[in-house]
Amino acid sequence: MTASEISPNAQLEIDKVNRYTAHNYAPLDLVLTSGEGVWVTDVDGNRYLDCLTAYSAATFGHGYGKFIDVMRDQMSKLSLTSRAVYAEGIGDFAEALTKLAGKDMALFMNTGAEANETALKIARKWGVRVKGLPQGAGKIIGMEGNFHGRTTTLISLSDDPVATADYGPFTPGFSLVPFNDIDALRDAIDDETVAVILEPIQGEAGIIVPDAGYLKQVRELTAERNVLMICDEVQTGMGRTGTTFRFQAEGIEPDLIVTAKALGGGILPVSAVIGNEDVLGVLEPGTHGSTFGGNPLAAAVGTAVCEELATGKLQENCQQLHPVLREGLEALIGRGVTAVRGAGVWMGVDIDPKIGTAKDVCVDLLAKGVLAKDTHGVTVRLAPAMIIGREEIDMLLRAFTEVINARWEAAA
Ligand SMILES: *Cc1c(COP(=O)(O)O)cnc(C)c1O
Repeated sequence: MTASEISPNAQLEIDKVNRYTAHNYAPLDLVLTSGEGVWVTDVDGNRYLDCLTAYSAATFGHGYGKFIDVMRDQMSKLSLTSRAVYAEGIGDFAEALTKLAGKDMALFMNTGAEANETALKIARKWGVRVKGLPQGAGKIIGMEGNFHGRTTTLISLSDDPVATADYGPFTPGFSLVPFNDIDALRDAIDDETVAVILEPIQGEAGIIVPDAGYLKQVRELTAERNVLMICDEVQTGMGRTGTTFRFQAEGIEPDLIVTAKALGGGILPVSAVIGNEDVLGVLEPGTHGSTFGGNPLAAAVGTAVCEELATGKLQENCQQLHPVLREGLEALIGRGVTAVRGAGVWMGVDIDPKIGTAKDVCVDLLAKGVLAKDTHGVTVRLAPAMIIGREEIDMLLRAFTEVINARWEAAA
């Protein structure tokens, strides 16, 4: 049987999920049972190079030995306490994470959406307590094409009609400007603006990399206007782009850094807002919290994640492989591919509509043993685990090239 046919085993699971869960996703017809490093295996024993990595949550790959060991060990001692008490290990996690980011303190949550919500709340409180704005004034500026999460407040910042339809009324106080347009941002900031939130590279929008220097301009402008700069590094952070955080590659220091996804090592949901005391210090007991945020199990895994990143080895691997991946994909420009963007081992590849949609390409890739996901119709996202080696990059490029060539020839 080829990987593109659905086996009875797989069909059973697919039918059950579709029968018993809400249809808020349109999954590929693929039923996975195990993951090992850069690979995942389906119910029929077919192996795929995982270039989706749970939307970069599994950026370290599957079953990372050190994280599994730490998790087992911590589970056998203590998993959950709530923050009503102190628990051993939380301080170590906060210290390790803030050191990686070059900041004073962290606030732990669980998911990316929760951490972004937290950052927006902090910015508004900072607006009242530090900037001296009246209650309810704090305006926040986001970027067109952003993705910050699925809560009511975060979709209030979204311009994606699919994400927002029928969910109003929305949270007020937000406006959007085009990404990568410093003049538009300058015009949008007024005396009541408390924060600008952006992804250093827009992930869900199609791995949109801004011009060199744009983030620096945003930093200078926001500093000048006494406005907080919030970097949503949920997907760009934790080594994915070749540096621990993407802002570090741009030589800037945001006021608040939001991190999640791979912070949980591909095992747990763990998220955080990282900042200095002049901003995070506005929170007082009772003003914000989370039952699961900063639990001992998350802290143990999160600390191990930070230790792995502190060596810089995985980031270096991403940097070394980046040109190989980029050049291999760029070779297809003009013959089925229209554009290639990215950083580290994270690439967006725009497919020429003449040869099909990005989804068509992903289906073909699956038959060749590569799991990848499309976004916005034209872009294929490639996000393999950062432990990937040269051999697997070559395999990925070979499969991608074969798929594009076959479609290019068929369209000719
Ligand atoms: C995935 C993502 C989020 C949301 O994270 P969840 O854990 O799904 O809530 C927020 N921001 C960015 C940039 C993301 O990629």
